[in-house]
Amino acid sequence: MSDLILFWHRRDLRISDHTGLAAAREKSAKIVGVFCLDPHILQRDDIAPARVKYMIGCLQALQERYQQAGSQLLILQNDPVVAIPKLAAALKAKAVFWNWDVEPYAQIRDLAVIDALKTERIEFLNYNWDQLLHSPTEIFSGAKTPYTVYTPFWKNWITKSKAKPVKILENLENLTAKEQEIAQQAGTINLPLAEDLGFIWDGELLISPGELAAQERLDNFAQSAINEYQEQRNFPAVDGTSQLSAALKFGVIGIRTVWQITIEALANSNSEEVNASIQTWQKELAWREFYQHAMYHFPELANGAYRDTFKTFPWRNNETYFQAWCEGKTGYPIVDAAMRQLNETGWMHNRCRMIVASFLTKDLMINPQWGEKYFMQKLIDGDLSANNGGWQWSASSGMDPKPLRIFNPASQTQKFDAEAEYIRQWIPELRSVDTEYLVTGKIPPLECHGVGYPTPIVDHQKQQALFKQLYQQQKAVS
Ligand SMILES: Cc1cc2nc3c(=O)[nH]c(=O)nc-3n(C[C@H](O)[C@H](O)[C@H](O)COP(=O)(O)OP(=O)(O)OC[C@H]3O[C@@H](n4cnc5c(N)ncnc54)[C@H](O)[C@@H]3O)c2cc1C
Repeated sequence: MSDLILFWHRRDLRISDHTGLAAAREKSAKIVGVFCLDPHILQRDDIAPARVKYMIGCLQALQERYQQAGSQLLILQNDPVVAIPKLAAALKAKAVFWNWDVEPYAQIRDLAVIDALKTERIEFLNYNWDQLLHSPTEIFSGAKTPYTVYTPFWKNWITKSKAKPVKILENLENLTAKEQEIAQQAGTINLPLAEDLGFIWDGELLISPGELAAQERLDNFAQSAINEYQEQRNFPAVDGTSQLSAALKFGVIGIRTVWQITIEALANSNSEEVNASIQTWQKELAWREFYQHAMYHFPELANGAYRDTFKTFPWRNNETYFQAWCEGKTGYPIVDAAMRQLNETGWMHNRCRMIVASFLTKDLMINPQWGEKYFMQKLIDGDLSANNGGWQWSASSGMDPKPLRIFNPASQTQKFDAEAEYIRQWIPELRSVDTEYLVTGKIPPLECHGVGYPTPIVDHQKQQALFKQLYQQQKAVS
């Protein structure tokens, strides 16, 4: 048995502020990273090309980071339950370390890897909840049950003391030449491109891959936009949010580093407004944790509605409407602009995510799982817990005490895109149409035909009334 510790990276593609790597470093300087391209994940039908391209870019950056620290990141492409123990056994590794994850698939997979490592008598360590400030086993209600409502969760979560960023790894020891050969024989490969894996994304990536790029984005956000976040975050035409979601999803930035920035920003703040903005952003970070805790405690969320009324809801599931929604051709400018932003960039502003999700479920009466899957097929930041949480919230099927939340596309536009800047940005054919038509959604049919834009596929008022009726009927029987 050597001193080698294999560190299995999954949603933690960085070496700084990394609790699992820090724990490994306490045991040995000989740490080699490994990432496994998992066919169970990559062959699913809800994987976004932009997300894979970003991930591969982050892996390239991580390889460089390991080299700078004196070691390397190995790549495998096989079922991790087989590939990780096989590599560890071939290299006679002392241990395999990784960070724990909340997703149901990850937990089952990890238990199988643990079994295989035990068979090989290889140690493992997987207890770090590196991607969260507080683990799901740490935050409970007074009745010692997991929270199912965000506000009390937040009130408790914010009182807990938060860990400081962990030091970056340095002076690592690499494999010997002989061990390199053994690793190759045990299945390591060169890192493929996203295209080699069948994922073609020609568009620009929203955020450059890698931890240095994520750190830079965080620093820029902390220098200015965070101070006006409360006001600016709701306007989709404004660059008022951090756009760090993909980096947080893949752990390209450490959550403690992100939190520390908010503490420093609060210390430098000299107004109540700025304080409120920073705290509003902290609350978004807490939403992220709330949904991950929920997924950990209630894995059945991944399979559909949480609330009984919605478990057998008679969704209409009209495929033509669904197609129009996916393509951004519903005739509702704010909905269409948002869907086109998603299709073209792999990202969508949060306000618009709520608008289009409400429209799909409440106006088109389509099962939220269809929308949830489409989002996963497109989003660079697609993440089971956050996406599922967002969809369940918008569909009113989830952990949210408010029974019927229906967004009116026109009033949302008047509040948040009053000059139709966002609409014009993403729907070029509407650029010359009067703002008043765009924000009320009442574009005269002739004007629509003139520019090749569809008339509305449904009438919001009628659909809203119909949805409420269906909901009342369903509530009576469920
Ligand atoms: C229907 C729907 C689907 C969504 N799907 C995803 C998804 O797949 N992946 C994802 O990361 N977020 C998702 N969100 C949440 C949110 O829209 C994005 O996190 C946010 O728009 C990302 O932009 P940002 O990084 O600029 O966020 P900021 O406003 O800068 O917020 C900072 C960080 O907080 C977290 N966050 C913010 N809002 C939420 C939220 N409501 N729920 C959970 N975490 C949040 C994100 O990690 C985000 O990067 C979804 C929301 C809805 C309504």
